[in-house]
Amino acid sequence: MDFGLTETQLSLRQLTETQLSLRQLAHEFAEKEIRPLARGRERIRDPRERFPWDILEKGSKLGLRTLSLPEERGGAGASILDLCIVGEEIAWGDLGVAVTFDQTWKIIHFLDRVWNEEQRARFLPAFLGDHRFHLAVGVTEPDVGSENFTPSDSPGDGVRLRGVREGDHWVLNGMKHFISNGGIAKLYVIVTRTDPKAAVARGVTYFMVTPGTKGFSIGEIHDKMGQRLSQNAELIFENCRVPDADRVTEVGGGVKARAGSFSRGSVIESAATAPPPWGPPGRLTRMLLNTRATASRAESPSSSTRRWASCWPTASSSTRPRARPCTTRPGWP
Ligand SMILES: Cc1cc2nc3c(=O)[nH]c(=O)nc-3n(C[C@H](O)[C@H](O)[C@H](O)COP(=O)(O)OP(=O)(O)OC[C@H]3O[C@@H](n4cnc5c(N)ncnc54)[C@H](O)[C@@H]3O)c2cc1C
Repeated sequence: MDFGLTETQLSLRQLTETQLSLRQLAHEFAEKEIRPLARGRERIRDPRERFPWDILEKGSKLGLRTLSLPEERGGAGASILDLCIVGEEIAWGDLGVAVTFDQTWKIIHFLDRVWNEEQRARFLPAFLGDHRFHLAVGVTEPDVGSENFTPSDSPGDGVRLRGVREGDHWVLNGMKHFISNGGIAKLYVIVTRTDPKAAVARGVTYFMVTPGTKGFSIGEIHDKMGQRLSQNAELIFENCRVPDADRVTEVGGGVKARAGSFSRGSVIESAATAPPPWGPPGRLTRMLLNTRATASRAESPSSSTRRWASCWPTASSSTRPRARPCTTRPGWP
């Protein structure tokens, strides 16, 4: 497939010390904590029992869960290339574990951009302080998938989950499905149709919903053939009252607000998941290096990521990463 990008040969020499340290940390986490458990875990039949909380907590304690937040917010200020490198390594351990982290990386990046100060004060401390605080975003519905992302101008197309204003609340009715981190997340970003007469581009609004909110429940947990250690679920809304204070975009401004934010997550997922015949693992990361935006980040990592990486026990500049998997070696290990 032609991505419109030119592939270059990325060698370890092109990665910064920080990126090498990140890569090594994620590799060791995958090797020691994920791979010994993953194959056995994914054979567990019940998706709820299968979910690898122990592994995710260990990763969070290493700082992986909060990587994408800026340092001034308590994260590490990881660039998109840093996240691709880490995502690839975690995916070498298990793709489902990588997807769970990746969802949280992209959604917290989005929320950090759109939160007002009151919302940030309410949610950020809880997010930072809880190793099990993951995030989910609900866009897809049983009858509505691709057209949410490539919206037409027809008001009848796209998101149908309705949000109707009643005073200082919104009443949500409808359903989402296939939602990654569904049933395990502690905060959900929900895409609702607040204007049924407008096209998706102007008729949807994003809200935050927490588990336990009256009228919000988890339906079926989907059982999957792949990514079995990530959890996907249906989200059901029945007269669910959400305060206007939990709205995170302008009314009707959801599509505009998400522009350029959630696509980060898709790029990271692509880097982590692209298998042959698309190319050897790491090919997308190499191609990413060739785009102007990420190339400049590769050359100058944020000072916050540098400082953060220097704190790791395994991340000294004298540590030489082994010439291993994704970004350097063709083919699966
Ligand atoms: C593992 C996994 C995790 C997911 N996580 C999330 C999540 O966290 N949050 C979320 O909101 N969603 C999530 N999804 C849903 C995902 O975003 C949708 O599956 C995707 O948008 C496609 O929608 P759909 O499944 O309804 O397929 P459809 O839109 O029905 O498409 C089916 C097929 O028709 C093709 N097609 C569609 N429209 C056209 C057209 N106009 N012209 C030609 N061909 C067309 C598509 O390419 C596809 O091959 C997840 C899905 C999976 C499998």
